[in-house]
Amino acid sequence: MGVQLKLIVALQKIDSEITRINNRNKMLPGELARLDEIFHGFSADFGEDQKTLEELSKAHKEREEKLKRGVESLKKTKDRLHEVKTNKEYQAMLKEIESTASKNSAIEDEILIVMDKLDQVRKMVKVREKELDGHRHDYESKKRKIEQELAAMDAEVSVYLEKGLMLKEQIASDLLKRYETIKNRSNGLAVVAVWKEICAGCHMNIPPQMYIELQKDVDIQYCPQCNRIIYWEDQNIKGE
Ligand SMILES: [Zn+2]
Repeated sequence: MGVQLKLIVALQKIDSEITRINNRNKMLPGELARLDEIFHGFSADFGEDQKTLEELSKAHKEREEKLKRGVESLKKTKDRLHEVKTNKEYQAMLKEIESTASKNSAIEDEILIVMDKLDQVRKMVKVREKELDGHRHDYESKKRKIEQELAAMDAEVSVYLEKGLMLKEQIASDLLKRYETIKNRSNGLAVVAVWKEICAGCHMNIPPQMYIELQKDVDIQYCPQCNRIIYWEDQNIKGE
């Protein structure tokens, strides 16, 4: 490959890298926001589970207190039993004792049901908590990675810009001018490989004669379809 062509191919690779980094730079804040949103969704779900647990705990406590009051009231009524003078009073008190005891028993049943539910929800919350820890770990490591990538980008671009400047100094000014013009109107891609007569820029065939010339590497050539600077690349040995 001729020296000028080599330089312009290298310049294109650098400019493409800069474009790739800049595009990624624009994309990453959105990715961060998406990660935030997903994790906060998990957090909110867990918050709901915790709320259910708190409500059940509260319901349990309330019933225990209610039962305690019921038991005290039953004891007081029983204590007063020997103070009664008439049979009528005695019968009324017995009725009261019976009614309070039955209410207490109903509260005890409720307490058993609430405790059973509480047990289930407590277990579920424990599982969910572990899941949330996993999500948090995942979220934080992804977030850290993106933040590190973002922080490294400026330095990376600076290195490429500097390399690009060094190359530009060695490239003939008319070729460089042409390169910039093509790059601006061709989505940032001014130099493309051709393999088996196919231009990698527009995916069209170039004439067979031109393909032969291209392999001889005599002069800078342009794709007749997309006008990009083209070079022959043997993709059989590429990557070896
Ligand atoms: Zn082309």
